[in-house]
Amino acid sequence: MQDIETTHALQNLIRLQELQVRQSELRDRVEQTPKEIACLDEELAEKRNMVEKAEAAITHSSKERRLTESEVEDLGRKLSHYREQLMEVKTNTAYQAMLHEIKFVESQISEREDFILEQMLESDELDQKLAEAKSAFQEEENIALARKKELEALVVESDSGLQEVEKERARIQNEIPGEFLARYQRIAAVRDGIAVTKVVNHSCEACHVRLRPQLLAELRTNRQIILCENCNRILYYSDA
Ligand SMILES: [Zn+2]
Repeated sequence: MQDIETTHALQNLIRLQELQVRQSELRDRVEQTPKEIACLDEELAEKRNMVEKAEAAITHSSKERRLTESEVEDLGRKLSHYREQLMEVKTNTAYQAMLHEIKFVESQISEREDFILEQMLESDELDQKLAEAKSAFQEEENIALARKKELEALVVESDSGLQEVEKERARIQNEIPGEFLARYQRIAAVRDGIAVTKVVNHSCEACHVRLRPQLLAELRTNRQIILCENCNRILYYSDA
């Protein structure tokens, strides 16, 4: 194998590695982003549910109040009826019995009026809760909708980016001589997909082991395939 051919193959392997890293990043994004969107939808639905619950509590409370108010009206009619009857009773026993009835109805009315008062106080609290839930929902909705738009655009962008990367990867891969490619793939398979790694600070960037000076000197020419003596990845030297 001539040096020039090796240099060229090495450049293509470096590019192939970059493209594969990019490809896996884009794939992750295409896969993860819809989950993020679903999460936003879920949070928003939760806030909407809070609004609905607050509204239901108000409806329930005012229904109970109206019911109690109509009970008070009924009891009021009963009371006037008893008072009229009181004038007409003939015996003291009947008079006492009627008085007892009247007292009982009065206490029932008073009980219900207390309840109505409580409900009115509670209604202020419920209104407040509804206002809070509504404002939390609106705030969340604005943020979530804007974020969703961003994420949806990101999916489209990543998808088309992925197609571009895939095309270039196929093109580069075709240019790499079979033995180089096979070597690359063997290493990538056992090294988390990273077969080619840069030399940084005289060390392998992937495993951080320091390289021997002689190896470094050979690497600087980028004219042969040199493997890291620790992790067996293909090393390359870059001035950049
Ligand atoms: Zn290494």
